[in-house]
Amino acid sequence: MSNPQERIRTICRACGHGGCGVYVAVEKGRPVKIHADWEHPISKGYTCKKAHAAIDLQNHPDRLLHPMQRVGARGEGKWRRLSWDEALGIVAERLNRIKAESGAESVVFGHGTGRDFHRFLYRVANLFGTPNVLTPGHMCYLPRIAVCKALGMEIPLVDYDNQPKCLLVWGSNHLISNPDENKGINLAKTMQAGTRMIVVDPRRNRLTDKAELWLQVRPGTDSALALGMLHVIVKEGLHDREFVARHTTGFEHLCHRLDEYPPEVVERITWVPADKIVAAARLFATTKPAALQWGVGVEQNVNCVDADRALIYLVALTGNLDVPGGNVIFGIPPGVPRAKFSLFDALPDTQRAKMLGADRYRLGATNLKGLMCQIIKE
Ligand code: SF4
Repeated sequence: MSNPQERIRTICRACGHGGCGVYVAVEKGRPVKIHADWEHPISKGYTCKKAHAAIDLQNHPDRLLHPMQRVGARGEGKWRRLSWDEALGIVAERLNRIKAESGAESVVFGHGTGRDFHRFLYRVANLFGTPNVLTPGHMCYLPRIAVCKALGMEIPLVDYDNQPKCLLVWGSNHLISNPDENKGINLAKTMQAGTRMIVVDPRRNRLTDKAELWLQVRPGTDSALALGMLHVIVKEGLHDREFVARHTTGFEHLCHRLDEYPPEVVERITWVPADKIVAAARLFATTKPAALQWGVGVEQNVNCVDADRALIYLVALTGNLDVPGGNVIFGIPPGVPRAKFSLFDALPDTQRAKMLGADRYRLGATNLKGLMCQIIKE
């Protein structure tokens, strides 16, 4: 029989949102090619390069298939292959030795970006007895989630289905990166439909070239830029007064704070010309609906929690929070159970209190997931 190839219908899970429909061509039990599923109701034939690269995750000749231990000096490049039992034995012995000598909390478990395995690491850490887990999420997506939780909501995502008329793209190279939340194709279609675009990015890219306004922000000054835009919006009375009256507290305090951020001052902090700040603020506040597509460029700064807060205010005070074509609140669909897999609750209080940074950085400590469980409870 010539080349019997099977096609299995499934979904891609190579990124955070997952869910693009694909067919996997399988030969002799091994995946050999990924094809788009044109009938899939969500992705409608769209796949990004990550989906096609997924074949290499399994088949690439350089893929590491066995535990390896470095022998000799660092940099010498000498390794020996171990059995799984031997490798696990070495790791367990060393971890337990450190725990006996210095306490479980002296071990920080860390992991890279990967999908679906991090819950296991949290569980190992919690059962080992340390509250300290570091993830790429700490400089990526978790501060945004934590800020939203602290404000009492889930993350507000762009409602591309209802075609925003103005899009504020902040620290995101969305077309290329296809990050969590939304696929780049949604942004591309919105651009084709003629949305007016403001892009905040220190670097020139395809989006900055297409934007009506490019604010070339000095890295790390996003909070000041957002406050500068809010200053213009509030001082010019372009904010949504009904929203303020019905859903906010402390608006006067915010107004006092905004006094410190007129466009000329913000220009000195951010290097964005004052007239561009004014133009961007007016465009975002007066074009309805408008939405903020923010990326993890914002969270890769030390002041990201405040930047995230200011950005959410920008959306909310312009009347674009939870409205069609604006930023809509993402929630886990009913019926999806929230797994309590990590067993953070099982950590004794004495150990939980040893979480690095928990006393000073309520929204940025290690084991942010555990901390968020606590915040939600409180
Ligand atoms: S956006 Fe790319 S990586 Fe993410 S699910 Fe779709 S095809 Fe896979």
